[in-house]
Amino acid sequence: MKRNANYDNLEQSYLFSTIAKKVNEFAQNNPDKKIIRLGIGDVTKPLCPAVINAMHKAVDEMSVQETFRGYGPEQGYDFLRTAVQNYYKNYNVDLELDEIFISDGAKSDLGNILDLFDNDNTVLVPNPVYPVYVDTNLMAGRNVKFIDANEENEFLPLPDNSVKADLIYICSPNNPTGAAYNRKQLAELVKYALNNNAIILYDAAYEAFIEDNDIPHSIFEIDGARNCAIEFCSLSKTAGFTGTRCGYTIVPNALGKLNKMWVRRQTTKFNGVPYIVQRGAEAVFTKEGMKEIRVNIDYYKKNAKIISDTLKECGIWHVGGKHSPYIWLKCPNNMKSWEFFDYLLKNAQVVGTPGAGFGRNGEGFFRLTSFGSYENTLEAMERFKQLF
Ligand code: PLP
Repeated sequence: MKRNANYDNLEQSYLFSTIAKKVNEFAQNNPDKKIIRLGIGDVTKPLCPAVINAMHKAVDEMSVQETFRGYGPEQGYDFLRTAVQNYYKNYNVDLELDEIFISDGAKSDLGNILDLFDNDNTVLVPNPVYPVYVDTNLMAGRNVKFIDANEENEFLPLPDNSVKADLIYICSPNNPTGAAYNRKQLAELVKYALNNNAIILYDAAYEAFIEDNDIPHSIFEIDGARNCAIEFCSLSKTAGFTGTRCGYTIVPNALGKLNKMWVRRQTTKFNGVPYIVQRGAEAVFTKEGMKEIRVNIDYYKKNAKIISDTLKECGIWHVGGKHSPYIWLKCPNNMKSWEFFDYLLKNAQVVGTPGAGFGRNGEGFFRLTSFGSYENTLEAMERFKQLF
């Protein structure tokens, strides 16, 4: 037996365990203080009624001989693929059904897609970054290069032609920074990919938070993207499916063999998303479902605006908070990320996530999220105003 020694190259992440330890310690020593958590990376609002009703109905179908379902199609039921196809029409993107693959969430497919690519490819990843892109490639022994996201490019880096990459990860709106690429920037990215015969792995998990026309919801809104991009999306943040698990991946036919390879990969290694969950997901795309999920997204976005407006008032540099549940701020007084974490916990009892945990370029920055309650967000921001 030879184990995969590439796992030795993974950095241990102590980010969330260290945060939990520090917060617990503080809570024990200061039982009278109310701690407000603005570091939550998970949704907090329940599934909407349209989804719940559809899932209840599907559960009942499973109990009846005539409507019981066993294994479903690995790529997803046509009723859900059609719902996704229609959703993309809102953004003037026409997809064939066989380009749409229903997944159990974006994270799995972001990792699984790598089965289609040789280990000898060079991968380009923005830094700071959602750690999954880096770790999945390191596990396979691929060469990972970083492009610097920083204050100068407002955390929206683009590869330049001096860099040669075969696979490029882009997440927009971004986790952890909340920054979102506009049409012109994405057109540049597509041009680079076409010139370099590269594939863009486009993570659109937060597209539902976009509010301006100039920020594309899908990379396929950009001319030429079908020839160089695969898109990953998820109902996790769109509709509160983090625990329910459903997403979709678009592999265009224009990518040649990759579409059929993905069919082969999925039919070999995946047995599909539960029928009950897919019925719930279908309900998200109905008129009623869309209206109901909007209420929750607007709730989070209102929190994000309160945070962003407060930071502006305090003169604290930040990005995000508009098309995203995340706000990425520069630590005041040139504090380092962990220094600011400790300072904020001690002086305002507000918890966020140190940017340094998302990569080298995150040092000196800090992530706040809007998934908390309105009241707590408001109170946390009052405390910010007192401090800064
Ligand atoms: N992509 C990004 C950028 C994320 O932040 C997350 C979750 O936090 C995911 C993908 C994973 O989403 P899912 O729940 O669909 O696996």
